Amino acid sequence: MNASPAELLPNHLGGQRHVGTGAGTTLFDPVLGDALVRVDATGLDLSGGFERVRTLGGSALRALSYRERAGLLKAVAQVLQARRDAYFALSTANSGTVKNDSAVDIDGAIYTIGVYAKLGEALGDARVLADGEFVALAKGGAFGSRHVQVPTRGLALCINAFNFPAWGLWEKAAPALLSGVPVVVKPATATAWLTQRMVQDVIDAGVLPAGALNVVCGSSAGLLDALQPFDGLSFTGSADTAALLRRHPAVAERSVRVNIEADSVNSALLMPGATPGSAAFDLLVKEVAREMTQKSGQKCTAIRRVLVPEALYGAAAEAIGARLARVTVGNPRNESVRMGALVSRAQFDAVQAGIAQLQRVAETLHDGRGAALVDADPAVAACVAPVLLGSRDPDAHALLHTTEVFGPVATLMPYRDLDHARALVARGEGSLACSLYGEDDDAAADALTATALDLAAVHGRVHVVTPAVAALHTGHGNVMPQSLHGGPGRAGGGEELGGLRALNFHHRRAAVQAAPTVLSRLTPPTPSAA
Ligand code: NAP
Repeated sequence: MNASPAELLPNHLGGQRHVGTGAGTTLFDPVLGDALVRVDATGLDLSGGFERVRTLGGSALRALSYRERAGLLKAVAQVLQARRDAYFALSTANSGTVKNDSAVDIDGAIYTIGVYAKLGEALGDARVLADGEFVALAKGGAFGSRHVQVPTRGLALCINAFNFPAWGLWEKAAPALLSGVPVVVKPATATAWLTQRMVQDVIDAGVLPAGALNVVCGSSAGLLDALQPFDGLSFTGSADTAALLRRHPAVAERSVRVNIEADSVNSALLMPGATPGSAAFDLLVKEVAREMTQKSGQKCTAIRRVLVPEALYGAAAEAIGARLARVTVGNPRNESVRMGALVSRAQFDAVQAGIAQLQRVAETLHDGRGAALVDADPAVAACVAPVLLGSRDPDAHALLHTTEVFGPVATLMPYRDLDHARALVARGEGSLACSLYGEDDDAAADALTATALDLAAVHGRVHVVTPAVAALHTGHGNVMPQSLHGGPGRAGGGEELGGLRALNFHHRRAAVQAAPTVLSRLTPPTPSAA
């Protein structure tokens, strides 16, 4: 990994490298407890740097067509692909993840860049996007209006959470760069190393114009103060931090456009009619256990609430518990380990506290925390084994629907009928993802469709699993760049990805009113939505 514990990671802003002048914050290996590297942004001129990003990076990107910027994304993906092994090593060291979980982050990032490269290629040589058709404003259509979307003249400040240092960077950066908007990423401090390394590798490879991609590590102090009216702020993290950002003068007074991805108490719902061992039952059990343990449950989309018909409460508890009991927890460097660590000892404490809080209103159906860790010291490692909780009276406790324990923890709940189930799901006050498990016949498809449409009002994504797609579906918690990511209410109210829809955030829509001869020259034909 070529880094001594004393190494201070440089920031890159507006084409300049800057090493913080403060003591910095040390990043740790969450399994071994070793100090890794330090991050610091003390002394960095944020206002001046942001201005260089806008003028240098922004102008260079906007001078290109969508197809040319798609080419840049392709080159970025090649740079990252060539260094993939190093990123896996970094992920093991700084995030404590097993190889499969590191892949979700790293390969997920490279895949997402590739999807945006393809989408951009299809937009061709255009430099603006058409938005709707000509609308007549005068008799005979001699004067009218057309809407266009042009890349914003600002920058995209992307503030990320600790759980996806690679994917979190690129799922935000790829649509911004494709739009012609330069990116400043501020990674979460605990896992900033992988983000910083990827940005540095891309800058060193010289595949992007100077100032197009930037990274500021360490404290977030002053970042928002440097934002100007045409900038965008794309945030992923806790609802508490999100609330602070929404009140910041940059947002409240300078109308900086803001997109928030916050926490979410996502659900999985086994449809009525299932029986123990039926295909839908087994699919739910498998997916719940996978979601609870993938990345040690540190996914914003992970299943937190599991709703089953009341007659199946006991059978579901037993089946999910049996799968969780097989999960070996500990040092991700040991091949027998299925689940690694949380990202830090602070998260370890937060997850333990969250479990204790839920245990006040829920029973414990499975608790793996009694088992020994593999190759890891329990006094040092941030490893928490999976815990399945349950409540036979989910109506009685708001806490069950509003508490997100960001670890391998979920709560099982029985429901009486579909209306009751929908009402319980909606008590999450808006979530990122909900999955439904049913059969393939026509009657089941009718019920699944009606339920999906009902729950679409309170989710960003509804994921329907039936036996026909058992081996094909992309997973409850996996965020695919083709589908929308975000959710209403407490999930933040944001929208990311969703194919070309992600470009909306980085463009300004304007109406141009003129004679048809002028309007017909504004834009190429509207590209098909993808
Ligand atoms: P957090 O404490 O809110 O931090 C998120 C980011 O905001 C970090 O980069 C953090 O930097 C920065 N930050 C903190 N205070 C700030 C301030 N006053 N101004 C500007 N930036 C500030 O969240 P977290 O604990 O890292 O992340 C876990 C949460 O994120 C979970 O609740 C999870 O559900 C949510 N999440 C949501 C999604 C989604 O897509 N919806 C995805 C992943 C995670 P420092 O690290 O330096 O403090």
